Formats: sequence, structure tokens, C-alpha cells
Amino acid sequence: MNKKTRSFQTKLRLLMIAGLVVLQAATLVAVHLAGRRAVQQTVSDELRVGARVLARVLESRGQQLAATASVLTADFAFREVVASGDRPTITSVLRNHGERIAADAVFLISLDGTVDADTLDNRFVDTPFPVRDLFASAQSGEPTSAISSFEHRAHQFVVVPVLAPVPIAYVGIGFAIDDKTLEEVRRLTSLHYSLLRASAGEREPVLASTLAGPARAELAQRVRALSPSSFAAPATLAMDSQSYATVIEPLLPGNEGDMQVVLQVSIDRARRAFRRLELQIFGLSTLALMGSLVGVTFLARGISLPLQRLAERAQGIGAGDYTATIEIGAQDELGQLASAFNQMQSGIREREEQIRHQATHDSLTGLPNRTLFLDRVQLAIDRARRQGGMVGMVMMDLDRFKEINDTLGHHFGDVVLCEIGRRLLAKVRASDTIARLGGDEFAVLFDTADPPGALEIARRVSTILEAPFAIGDLSIAVTASLGISLFPLHADDPGTLMKRADIAMYDAKKNNLATSMYESGRDDHSLRRLSILSELRQAISGSQLEVHYQPKVDFTTGRAVAAEALVRWQHPVHGPMPPGEFVPLAEQSGDIRMLTRWVLERAVTDCARWNREGLDLSVAVNLSALDLYDSQLPSVIEGLLRASGLEPTRLLVEITESAVMKDASHAGKILGELKDQGIVISIDDFGTGYSSLAHLRRLPVDELKIDRSFVIDLREEGREDLMIVRSTIELGHNMGLKVIAEGVESLETWKVLAKLGCDLAQGYFISRPMPSPQFEAWMRGAPWTPESSVVGRPG
Ligand code: C2E
Ligand code: CA
Ligand code: CA
Repeated sequence: MNKKTRSFQTKLRLLMIAGLVVLQAATLVAVHLAGRRAVQQTVSDELRVGARVLARVLESRGQQLAATASVLTADFAFREVVASGDRPTITSVLRNHGERIAADAVFLISLDGTVDADTLDNRFVDTPFPVRDLFASAQSGEPTSAISSFEHRAHQFVVVPVLAPVPIAYVGIGFAIDDKTLEEVRRLTSLHYSLLRASAGEREPVLASTLAGPARAELAQRVRALSPSSFAAPATLAMDSQSYATVIEPLLPGNEGDMQVVLQVSIDRARRAFRRLELQIFGLSTLALMGSLVGVTFLARGISLPLQRLAERAQGIGAGDYTATIEIGAQDELGQLASAFNQMQSGIREREEQIRHQATHDSLTGLPNRTLFLDRVQLAIDRARRQGGMVGMVMMDLDRFKEINDTLGHHFGDVVLCEIGRRLLAKVRASDTIARLGGDEFAVLFDTADPPGALEIARRVSTILEAPFAIGDLSIAVTASLGISLFPLHADDPGTLMKRADIAMYDAKKNNLATSMYESGRDDHSLRRLSILSELRQAISGSQLEVHYQPKVDFTTGRAVAAEALVRWQHPVHGPMPPGEFVPLAEQSGDIRMLTRWVLERAVTDCARWNREGLDLSVAVNLSALDLYDSQLPSVIEGLLRASGLEPTRLLVEITESAVMKDASHAGKILGELKDQGIVISIDDFGTGYSSLAHLRRLPVDELKIDRSFVIDLREEGREDLMIVRSTIELGHNMGLKVIAEGVESLETWKVLAKLGCDLAQGYFISRPMPSPQFEAWMRGAPWTPESSVVGRPG
């Protein structure tokens, strides 16, 4: 990632630099080309002007010379001397005048053009005047100035007539054009001027020049290779480590004589100005380039740094860290990206929290689930190990919650579960953990100092069920069984701790206790359950089962009118086993049908015998919920009755309220068939199953049996129980049903029930369940009865 952002930065920088360099190069080339053109233009302009200045200087010098010469020839004395023809005098006069006007040579020319006298030691006497053309044009009154090569040097000559008043002779005066003359011109133009002899032969070709000695010699050589050039395209000569734009011209325009003038201007000098310009432009663009570089770097960092931070944040999110947010102050796309990033991050965090919550919490109550609970247990155990101390766990299982769900609907069940969660939370310390382990199972995890502390917490937990649960105008009581286990007393890992709390909880359920603490060694219990399951079948077919009978006494007569058959198992190893322990197992394994038929057969047979032997009795047999799904049951019973000869009206079936309510229509069908045979139907454990009256009315019921939990502590001054029992009796009577109370353990209860108009009573106060022979003896012997007559019937 780092590498990539760097390369992005570099790319951006390279791109910008390349652009700028191309731009700069193009500018420089353009400037350079323009400069070159301008230099050429300037140079040829300077050369042209320089040529013109030279011409003008020479011209005005010629006019000046002519004027000076005219002044001389007009002089009377001079004319006198010329007329005298005396050569020595003439020569001396010529020399005097010549010196005065700084002429190099003065000639007196006769009318025929030969020299009469000169200031050059009369070397030219009797020879034709050297500048013949000039003499000719002077004779015809033409301009009188001309330039000519004379005595190896360039000279400017004038020829003027000596008039008396007609020309009697001519005077020719020559002035050398030397380095000094050219230097004067150079001072005006700063060009170099050189005069050359066109056809030099062996002689020195440079007549005069502003160039220094060595350059002069070089020029002579170089020029020979050059042909006359125009100002438009001057030749470039490199001399004396300088470049000169050079043109060669005839000395005077139109005068193609053998003298040429070479004009030279330094290109380097002309170029220097442009060089400076070019340098300035180059400097400026270099500055611009550097500036842009800095700018690009900042820009690139402005992009790549935030990108890098975003990338780092993305990695952080990938690693599960959602805490940091990115602050990019900019309002631009990067700023938007950053805020989108932050939103994304909080979105992910929320969803992840949600998922984590769902994975570790129960969706209904919002409490921690089994997974989280086990985690917390592990943490608590670890902590207790380090610090010393005890970890306690309470497992709470609601009693008959399935019935609440089945009869009142799942919605009600859910409301109850949520309410339990709320009540639990209000009861425990913040440091404790409450979990719903599933179904109607809750668990509490807590720290405690000792087992009594744990018991106290369990007691506090159980108080949450004291208040009834209300929905609409319905109010129900919910009970639960609690099991406690402790670390390190009972287990030292979460799984075992939980299992042992579970075992303790089942113990509590079985023993009708609110709370039970795990006792070491109880694990065999579950093994026992397993072996019992397999042994039960043998027990049914073998001779380990027995039926005991418990009398039911009529309040009006004080006589036993019936007996309830209660199964007993004399286990070869475990000894007497209560039906509460193996009947549910038989229901689980499906062996209950076999059990029921076995009990039915014994009960019907015994009762038939009693009746034959003069005991006027009915017999009651308990059916389990599963028996109501046994469609053959009615015909089985019919067969039994026929075989034994027992009147169908002498047989009662007891079926619990909750079993009936589980599937009322199905129960109604089977019960209807039994009823049709004349069999009496009793609703067992009435008051615990939340049955609706409407349903009950539709069933072929003959008797209500008030559950013993309402009866056992029934007293005259009792409130709730008394109310329930009274209303049940009234309700039953209103529906034309008999009402029987089970669990009558005292005289006081008996009396209260008698007063309330209860029809029948059953309980330890009358008799415990007994084996058949004992029961028969009891019936014949104990005249337990007329206690009732003492009480009498109310109103
Ligand atoms: P249940 O049908 O409610 O039976 C009455 C239970 O109350 C019997 O317990 C009886 O011994 C007990 N009992 C009677 N009088 C008193 C009293 O004054 N105080 C107290 N505290 N208890 C009293 P048992 O025999 O242990 O039976 C327990 C349950 O097992 C029965 O409750 C019944 O639901 C079931 N059961 C027993 N025999 C059979 C059977 O043959 N078939 C089926 N399906 N269930 C049976
Ligand atoms: Ca019963
Ligand atoms: Ca009962």
C-alpha cells in the first residue's frame, strides 16, 4: 500500500514535471528562434546603417575638401604664382597650402592633364594626373570628389580649376583614408570597417582598417574566400574568438573600382541582449518548475496521506478495531470519502454488535444465552481460582410451563418468560449474570462466600415468583424448582458445574422442594434413570409391581365408597420406588400404555372380587395423558369389565386437568367412548392446569378432584386456599359434578371441607394407600366413619 501511494505520488509529480519541462523547452526554443531572427535583423540593420554612415562621412569630407580647394585656387597670389610658371615657387606654395589643410598630396595640373608640379618631390611632373576620371569630370564641371587607390593607400581626391577667369590650370588635392578616418566612423556606428584592395596581387590587400593587427591579416585571408554579400544575408566570420556578421561592398555605391569596404558587426554583442532575455526566461521557468514541484508534492501528499490513513483505517477495521475515526478536515471528495468511511465503520460496528448480541443473547428476553453464560462461568471460575472464593450457580426450571404454553398460548408464555427475566434482573447484584438457557430454564451466576450464602441467593431468586403473572384480567401463579451447585465444592469446570446444578434442580422437582443444593454422588442418579427405563418393562411383566388402594370417603355417610389404585414398584435393588419417579419415565419410553393396562386389570379384578365379597366399592384408576391417544383403550377396558363382571359404573378413570387440556378434542373423543360405556370420569389435580371452563363443559366429566396442594393446609381461617377450594366446589356443583378433595391430612381440613359441602375426601387422615389384602381388612375392620356425622352438612 505504502509503495503504491508513493508511486502514485511519483507519477503525479513526474507528470507535472514533464508537462512543465516540455512547456519550458518550447518557450525557450521559441524565444531562441525569435532571438536569432532578431539578431540577424539587428545585425543586417546595423550593417546597412553603418555603410550609409561611412558613405555620408566620405561624401561630406569630399565637399569639405572641395570647398577648401576652391578657397586656395581663388586666392590672387596663388593665381599669380601659377601664371608665373616658376616651378620651385609653385611647388613651395603647393606644399604650404597642403600643410595648412593637412592634405597628403597636392598637384598642379595643366589643362592637358599632365602634372606641372606636386608636393611629392615633383615625382609626378610631366606624367598624367593619377586620378584621370576625376580630372575629366572636373573639366566638364561635374562633381569633383572621388576615392581612389593611390600610392598603396586609399585616397579621397578633389580637383578644382584655377580660374583667371577662364581655367588656366587645375589643382588636385588628395587626402589619405587611413585607420584614423575609419576609426572616426567606427566611433559613430561601433562597426568595424576595413578597406581592401580588390585585386591585390602580392601587395598588402588591407588599405586601412579598424581591426587590430593580427585580425587584419586574418581578415585579408578570410575575405578572399568570400564573395560580395548583401546586408540581408551577411556572412558570419569567426575571428579573434568572436563572431562577426560581415558584408563586403564596393567602397562607394556605383563605384565598382578595385576598392572594397568590409563592414563587420559583432554578433556576440547583438546576441548578448537576447542571451540575457533567454537567461531570464530560463531562470523564471526554472523557478516556476521548482514552485510547481513543491506544489505537486503538497498536492500529492494532500491526496496520498489521506489515502494512506484511509488504508490504515481499513486494515484496522479488518482487524476488528472500530474505535478510531478518521478526521480529514477537507470538504472535498477526500473529506466525503473519509466521512463515508466513518459511517461505514460505525455501520459495520453496529451490525457486528448486533450479530454478536444475537449470538450471545436470547432473542426473547434479551438475557445472555447458554454460550455467553458458560463464558461468564469460566471467567468467574478463573477469577475465583486466583483470588480464592466460591462461584455459585442457580438453575431455575419453571414447573408445568409447557401447560401454560399449551393452554394459554405461546404469547402468554412469552410474556411470562420476559417478566421473569425482568424480575430476576431486579433481584440480583449488577455483578451477577442471569441467563436464559432455553425453554423455561433460567440460570444465575454469582460469587458467594459459603454455601449458606448461595442458599440465600437462591431463596431471593425464588421470591420473584411470589407475585402472580397477569395478562389482561387473567392472573396465574408460576412455580419453579431451583438447583444450586458451587465451585470448587461440586465441580471445577463450567460444564460440570452446570450439569450438577441441573441434577440439583431435578432433585428439587422430584422432592417437591423449591430449592435443592447438589449433593456429591448424585450423578449416579441419572444413570439410575437410564437403567430404570430398561428395567421397567420387566417389572411390568414380572411381579415387581403392585397396586395399593387408598379409600375415598363420602362426607354424608362417612363410609368409604371407592378406592384409588396407586401403582407401587418394589425394585429388587433400589427398594420401594415412588410412582413419581418411574411413571414419567414410562411416559417418556412409551411403556405407560402397558403400565396403565396392567393397573387397570388389577384394579378391575380386585374391585370385582370386593363387590362379590360384599364390599360395595368403586375403583379409580389414573390415566396418563398418553393413554388418551390409545384408541384401543376403550375396547380394552370393555373387555376387562366383561371378563371380571364389574359394572362399568364401578370404574372411575382419573385424568389430570393438564392432560385433558393438552388436546381437549382428542381427549373428548376417548373420554366420550368411556363415558358411553358407563365409566365415571374424574378430573385429577384440579386447580393446577388453568383449564378453561368452556372446554371443561364440553367434556363428559363427572367429578372434579381438587389438587392436594390446595387442601393440605386448608384451615378455617385460611384465605387463598379456602377461596379456591370453595369456588371449585361451587363451580363443580353448578356444573352438576361431584367434588372430591385429596390430601386431607387432618380433622380440621376434613371439617372445613365438610362445611363447604365437598362430596368426598381422600387422604392420610383417612388412610394411607394399602396393598389389596390390607385394604380389604381395613374396609371390614376399621369402622372409620361416623366422625362425619358429628360435623353434619351445612345449611
Ligand atoms: P395422584 O393421582 O394425585 O395420587 C395421589 C397421590 O397423593 C398419591 O401419591 C398418594 O399417596 C398421595 N396422597 C394421598 N393422600 C395424601 C395426603 O393426605 N397427603 C399427601 N401429601 N399425599 C397424599 P403416589 O402414590 O406417590 O402417587 C403419585 C402420583 O403418581 C399420582 O398422583 C399419580 O399421578 C401417579 N400415579 C400413581 N399410580 C399411577 C398409575 O397406576 N398410573 C398412572 N398413570 N399414574 C399413577
Ligand atoms: Ca389420582
Ligand atoms: Ca391428584
